[in-house]
Amino acid sequence: MDERSIEALQTSLAGVCGHVNAQHAQLVRLAEKALAGDGWKQIGIHSPTHWLAWQAGISTGTAQKILAVAKGAEMHPQVMAAFDAGELSLDQVALAAKAPAYTDAEICGLAKLLTVQQLSMVVRKYPFTTDEEIARRAAAADGDTPLEVSAPEPSPGPVAGSSVSMGVDADGVGQVRGVLAPDEYRVFETAMREARDALFHGRDPDVTWADALIEICHRSLDTVAEPSRRDRFRINLYVNVDGTTTFADNWRIPDPIRHRLFCDGTITAVGLVGGVPVNVGRSQRIVPDRTRRLVEHRDLGCRVPGCSQSRWVQVHHIIHWDADNGPTETWNLICLCPRHHRLHHQGRLGITGNADLTTGTPGAVVFTDIRGSPLKPAADPAAPTSPPPEPAGRYVHPLGERLDRRAVHFNEPHPRRAS
Ligand SMILES: [Zn+2]
Ligand SMILES: [Zn+2]
Repeated sequence: MDERSIEALQTSLAGVCGHVNAQHAQLVRLAEKALAGDGWKQIGIHSPTHWLAWQAGISTGTAQKILAVAKGAEMHPQVMAAFDAGELSLDQVALAAKAPAYTDAEICGLAKLLTVQQLSMVVRKYPFTTDEEIARRAAAADGDTPLEVSAPEPSPGPVAGSSVSMGVDADGVGQVRGVLAPDEYRVFETAMREARDALFHGRDPDVTWADALIEICHRSLDTVAEPSRRDRFRINLYVNVDGTTTFADNWRIPDPIRHRLFCDGTITAVGLVGGVPVNVGRSQRIVPDRTRRLVEHRDLGCRVPGCSQSRWVQVHHIIHWDADNGPTETWNLICLCPRHHRLHHQGRLGITGNADLTTGTPGAVVFTDIRGSPLKPAADPAAPTSPPPEPAGRYVHPLGERLDRRAVHFNEPHPRRAS
């Protein structure tokens, strides 16, 4: 397909999506009507979901989604207006409707920009204040009831004050000490209990907490997607006695791979005297763990539009670290899945902009394809400008009668006529 056909295909797709969305909105409006007037109550129908799934020929899950949106429609006027206009899909609206009413305008704007996976992540993880709490605060501000000072909302990010130290004593015995914030401790304890329980199975019951911790470490290492990753990502920095440094005296690997390794690798200083390594320093990650956590928390997975991978992400330097001296600061760092990271360093995916800015604002990160056209941040249905085409046939909903599976039969192709 040439560039123009691809563009035409995508324009048609956007048009159809707009119609589909607007029609889904109509379906929600009808469901709303059915709920309000008890229109769903018919003999043998035990719930609105049952009724809608039957009448619309859709799955119970889809019917539940439509009804949930119908029930919350009043709370989200802006989201619903965008839905009616065909600008948001049913899946996007179903998620947006889970956010409290006061977020209506913001969640509406966000929903247009994010993929469904991203929006889902946002709605699940964001520590929303409930609408009830907002109402209570408003009443207190009116002077009805004194405002109680409530505990601050737990921060979704890492809590300052958590620290873990580790090291080896003179006998080579490892020492691990740590202080964890309450929420982080709960995660830790749950993981430890689970690991110890898993070890109990079929083994002697003398499993200690230390065994559990080692089990967790092994599991973590085992899940590294590419087994060679840890060693491949170790880069030696050669320090000559005269103070000059080189990454290696002789790179055998091609530039694109080297640039990629420098994005998110571990670096080890090797002291050289007369070109002979004499001293190996402590390994350091190019992206320090704390910065890495900030970036991972901000991005919640690979940032490439439409990519849903949230595990095994690598931190990429938008301005390359080794070739262009790109700083290891959050605005210059972005999470990418290994596949997209590789594509970028092969020159097949362009990434520019400031990673700290919200998608869509000027200066924010823009991804471009191999031809240099920007990738859209999410599905972009066009608002319908004409009524949808009249269906050629007439939709008749399923009968809903009991199905006798013995009555169902598919004819197999005749062996002699089959090619
Ligand atoms: Zn990179
Ligand atoms: Zn990706």
